[in-house]
Amino acid sequence: MNYIEEGFELLKEISFERLVGTEGEKKAQEIITKYLKNNNLSFYLEPFSLTGFEKGKASLRFNNKEINGYPNGGIGDVTLEGELFVLESDKQLNENPEIVKDKIVLINFPLDIKNYETLSKNLPKAVIRFSPPDKLPYHPSFRQTFFKEGTLLPVINITYEDAEKLSFASKVSITAHSLKKIVTAENIIIDIKGRDNRKDKIILCAHYDSVATSPGAADNGGGSAILYSIALYLKDFMPRNNFRLIFFSGEELGLLGSIYHTLKHRKETNEIKLVVNIDVAGDRWGKNLAMVLGDDELFHLVQTEANYLGIDFNVKKSIYSSDGMPFSAYSIPSVSLARHGGRPSAYVHTAKDSIEYSSIEGLRDIYKLAKQLVTRIDEAKFSLFKRQIPDELKKEINSYFIDRLGEKTFIKDRDSFFRRNK
Ligand SMILES: [Zn+2]
Repeated sequence: MNYIEEGFELLKEISFERLVGTEGEKKAQEIITKYLKNNNLSFYLEPFSLTGFEKGKASLRFNNKEINGYPNGGIGDVTLEGELFVLESDKQLNENPEIVKDKIVLINFPLDIKNYETLSKNLPKAVIRFSPPDKLPYHPSFRQTFFKEGTLLPVINITYEDAEKLSFASKVSITAHSLKKIVTAENIIIDIKGRDNRKDKIILCAHYDSVATSPGAADNGGGSAILYSIALYLKDFMPRNNFRLIFFSGEELGLLGSIYHTLKHRKETNEIKLVVNIDVAGDRWGKNLAMVLGDDELFHLVQTEANYLGIDFNVKKSIYSSDGMPFSAYSIPSVSLARHGGRPSAYVHTAKDSIEYSSIEGLRDIYKLAKQLVTRIDEAKFSLFKRQIPDELKKEINSYFIDRLGEKTFIKDRDSFFRRNK
């Protein structure tokens, strides 16, 4: 078996629900580490704690009908009834926020931090969201900061088709529960010492947790499988540079494993040359993406290596909501690789992101480019790009953490670190 075939074997074994802090995730960790042990790849675990939750369930009753969905993780026990109000857009919400008071609001817009705060302040009884047509319901989670700040808005997630039925109701009653709890999760880390006696290192990473209800075959069993294949390759290749390979946990709840790792190792961040992150892979037919957070030299390097392999990659300078981001907050360049556009990636974050739709062909292009890129960088006699992130991308990175992730403290901690060490 070649490296990627071995990776696919791992993917087949870990394609089950791996919600952070649950038995499922522990079981996946045992399988991954068993594969590492069988191949004499030494590793260690990096534990961290977070507010986790049980999957839970939710049901809505109206006009003698009952539909089921999922609560946002950790809403506790909820029993309530009230008048339904449909909000078509967040413009409508922002113009008249007080109209949601005491209502059960069915929304057709993203529940981002800003909209969540506006809704929270105006005290609706509950908020109902729905997934795109023909998709199973999502199971989103609150940001960790929401748990710390106290009362959570009861948020229920249903399908598009059920939302259509619900929209004719005037009164709805809801029962839901999902208890929150403090849990421990672990990043799995492999350090590979380079032949040259250098201090700096290259990081490759992929998250192995999944959202609740989802077997996460594409997101991100695929990335984990590719990372494992790269580990097998590097072990035989014996690189000149030091490499650190990390299977992150807690990504789906807001990059928790990678944020923890970068904060814990913040004194060593200037030793990291590059991060290659893999998140979402396995589509039999799909489009390959490489999102670069770095300078022009890195951008052109990625494009050139993809062309050298003769594989079509859409290379762009862009943020990507995944574990490369916390590193970029420390000005460490990163390349995120993903494959989208086919069936598994369309089912991402639902119970249908299962192994039956993922294929080994869907892993190959990403594996090849990741391997090519790290090999080229490793063999070069000089640095092929600078360790920097252009200002226009830095702005996007900051607003991603503050507006999309609600992680003001992470950004602040990093800033105070830089001030102290200037
Ligand atoms: Zn993911």
